[in-house]
Amino acid sequence: MPLLQISVADTSLPTIEPPLSTWSRDIESGETLDTVLSDAGLSATDRAEVALALGAEYDLRQLRPGHSVTVVSTMDGSPRRVALAVEDGVRIEAIFGDELATQVLTPVSEMVTLAGEAVIDSSLFAALDEAGIPARFAVDLAQMLGGTVDFRREMAGGETLRLLWREARVGDERIGQPDLAFAALEVSGALYEVVWPDSGSGQATIFVDGEVLRVFAQPVEGARLSSVFGRRTHPVYGNVRMHTGVDFAAARGTPVQATAPGRVSFIGWRNGYGRVVEISHGSDTMTRYAHLSAVPDGLVQGQRVAAGDLIGRVGATGTATGPNLHYEVLVDGRPTDPLSEERLAEAAEREADDSAARSMLAEARALLAESLDREIALTATERL
Ligand SMILES: [Zn+2]
Repeated sequence: MPLLQISVADTSLPTIEPPLSTWSRDIESGETLDTVLSDAGLSATDRAEVALALGAEYDLRQLRPGHSVTVVSTMDGSPRRVALAVEDGVRIEAIFGDELATQVLTPVSEMVTLAGEAVIDSSLFAALDEAGIPARFAVDLAQMLGGTVDFRREMAGGETLRLLWREARVGDERIGQPDLAFAALEVSGALYEVVWPDSGSGQATIFVDGEVLRVFAQPVEGARLSSVFGRRTHPVYGNVRMHTGVDFAAARGTPVQATAPGRVSFIGWRNGYGRVVEISHGSDTMTRYAHLSAVPDGLVQGQRVAAGDLIGRVGATGTATGPNLHYEVLVDGRPTDPLSEERLAEAAEREADDSAARSMLAEARALLAESLDREIALTATERL
């Protein structure tokens, strides 16, 4: 048995690496790269060169506490490499040689989907925070559901919110901001579900009791727009007045539909408007349907309606020259133009393809159930 095997490669001389020393520390509040490098013992020339090289890859004005600088030098103090570690695990390195070279090292992250459950007692924000779920989701949820659900009035407390979200991770570290994927919430007997597209862009879809929420319908189908929003000479009084809504001329008895999902907040008579139905949509928006000849028997105040639901019939009650629907949109009590471009664009954007949406919902529900089960199993194991 040979004591030593010598291969051809072993005969070449090993490259001799000089021993190196490593200096490293976090950047403190108010510090610049220059002060840290000076602290590390770099000469003014080296500091200027390093700042130029690193600055070409990263905006040095963005440096903040928690970022760190590492300087690798030979024992005699000449720098070999300067590494700047910034947010999201990104490292920018300047390597000394004949010329100063730079490289940017970006960590490989993986996307993970997480599930969580929160019981809402006081506020959405507090509930998420308490459950260890990113509390910033409260803003996304309020934005998505705020037009449909009046959180303050409709929630009795004790409602359970179930969520799925995605975050990018490097090891155990979260990179960037997490994104909501799915939310399920039952409010006063109705199950609201929101599915966000996984591309991170595009409109989320709201479901009520498993059906795509129609967010916009025409108040009267196929009717002629007879008067627009704004100042006009009043057809009855003859003076210039603000027209607070739009008028649709249609035959008496033509069905009038709720334009967006909401809750009937008023049925009755109002001066000039005649017979009126009002629907509140979330906490700040209200739609008003006036001059109605009739209101469906079953329709009562407090009732929840979907976009497209029959809520009345065209008439000429109140101050009207002929049968027409006067339709108003009030935001925070102020009349706004129902036909404004933003409003129409918003409505068009939200129109969703129903079958694609349903399969998206089924997928999200399955993933949520599976993830929550796993979570519960994990928690149970931890307790053992
Ligand atoms: Zn009108």
